[in-house]
Amino acid sequence: MVNIIPNIRRKDSEVFEIINRELVRQRNELNMIPSENYCSTAVLEAQGSIFTNKYAEGYPGKRYYQGNRHVDEIENLAIKRAKKLFRAEHANVQPNSGSPANMAVYFALLEPGDKVMGMELSQGGHLTHGSPVNFSGRMYNFVSYGLDKKTETLDMDAIRKIAQKEKPKMIVSGYTAYPRKINFREFHKIAREVGAYSMADIAHIAGLVAGGAHPSPLPFTDVVTTTTHKTLRGPRSAIILCRKELAKKIDSSVFPGIQGGPHEHTIAAKAVAFGEAMKPEFKVYAKQIVKNAKVLAETLMDNGIKLVSNGTDNHLILIDLINTKSVGKEGMGKECADALEEAGIVTNANTIPFDPSTPFRPSGIRLGTPVLTTRGMKEPEMKQIGEWMAKILKNHKDKALIKKTKEEVLGLCRRFVFY
Ligand SMILES: *Cc1c(COP(=O)(O)O)cnc(C)c1O
Repeated sequence: MVNIIPNIRRKDSEVFEIINRELVRQRNELNMIPSENYCSTAVLEAQGSIFTNKYAEGYPGKRYYQGNRHVDEIENLAIKRAKKLFRAEHANVQPNSGSPANMAVYFALLEPGDKVMGMELSQGGHLTHGSPVNFSGRMYNFVSYGLDKKTETLDMDAIRKIAQKEKPKMIVSGYTAYPRKINFREFHKIAREVGAYSMADIAHIAGLVAGGAHPSPLPFTDVVTTTTHKTLRGPRSAIILCRKELAKKIDSSVFPGIQGGPHEHTIAAKAVAFGEAMKPEFKVYAKQIVKNAKVLAETLMDNGIKLVSNGTDNHLILIDLINTKSVGKEGMGKECADALEEAGIVTNANTIPFDPSTPFRPSGIRLGTPVLTTRGMKEPEMKQIGEWMAKILKNHKDKALIKKTKEEVLGLCRRFVFY
C-alpha cells in the first residue's frame, strides 16, 4: 500500500503521513463494523485512475461532452457485469452512494407526499427509509413497520396487515442492523397484493447475495438499490437495479434528476469489484462471512452475551447490553464500544429493537465479520475474538485487561496482514 502511493509520499508528506497512520490503524485493529470492508488493491487502483479527469454527463452513447469513447466502454462493462452478477434486467451504475441511489428511486416512482412503508429506524431501518431528519421522512409520508417484540424478527403477517390497511405506493425492505434473513419474495408478494412498488435496499448484504449466501430479491423485485462498499467489497458507491419497464424513469431520475457528471473512476472500480464478485473465490468468501458470524455469535452467547434474535443468519450481530447480565443497564452501548476500541476491537454503538434509551445513548453494539473474513480469518479466530469481547464487556472498566487484550489483538492482526 505504501508502495502504491509513492507520489504522495514524495510530494505531500503531510497527507502521506495521515494516510499512512490510517493504514497502520486498519492493519492493527480488528475492524468489526459490519458496513465496512477492505477492498482489493485492484479496486483502489481503478478508483485512483485517470477516469477522474473526464466529464461524461449522460449515458453511454448519449453524452453531453465529446471524448467519451473509453468512458462508454468502462460504463458499459460495469453495467453488463452488474446485470449478470445480480440477474437484473437493467442496471444504473452512476449513483454516487447509497443515499442518493435511494433518493433517485423515490424521485423516479413517487410524488411528494406519497405513502411509503419502511422499517422503523430504531429497529434496523436506514435514515433514507423515512427518518424525520432525512429528506425521505420530510418529503414522503412514511408509515413504518417494526419487528415482532418476542422473536425480534420480521413478522410477515403483521407487515401484510399494515400494508393492507395503509395501501402504500411503495414498500421498502433491506436494513442496516438486522441479523436475520429477509424474505424478499414475501415482501414482493405483499407489494403486489396492495398495488405497491417493491423496493429492496440490499446495501449491507449485497456481497452475500452476489456470493449466494443470502436469498436474492432479484429478478422479481421492482427496484433494488445497493451500496458497493459493504459486503460487496468494491469502491465507496452504489448502483440501482430494476425491471426493464422502469429503466427510463430510474435513469432520468439519477441524471439529470439528482446528479451531474458521473464519477467514471468509481464506475471503473465498480466494474473491477463486480468482476471479482463473479469469481468462485467470492462465493467462498461470502459463505465464510456467514460461518464466521455464526461462530462468533455462538461464542458470545456461550459467554453470557445476549444477542438480538439470539443469533445471526448473515454478516451482522447485534448485542443487547440490557439483557447481558454483566452489563444489565440501558444506554451502555457507547461506553462498551469505547472499551472494545481501546482494546483494538472496533464496533459501533447501536440502538436495539424497542430500546428504552435514546439514539444518542443506545443500548446495543453492532458488529460484523466482513473485514475479518476478507483478511482471511476463520472459525478459530472468531472463537478467540468472541472470548476477548465477552471478557471486556463483562469488565469494561478493567484497564489492565484492556491493555493485555490490545496486545493479543495486535498479535492476531500481524498474522493476517492486509495491504
Ligand atoms: C449504508 C446504507 C445506505 C446508505 O449508504 P451511503 O453510501 O452511506 O449513503 C442505505 N441503505 C442501507 C440499508 C444502508 O445500510
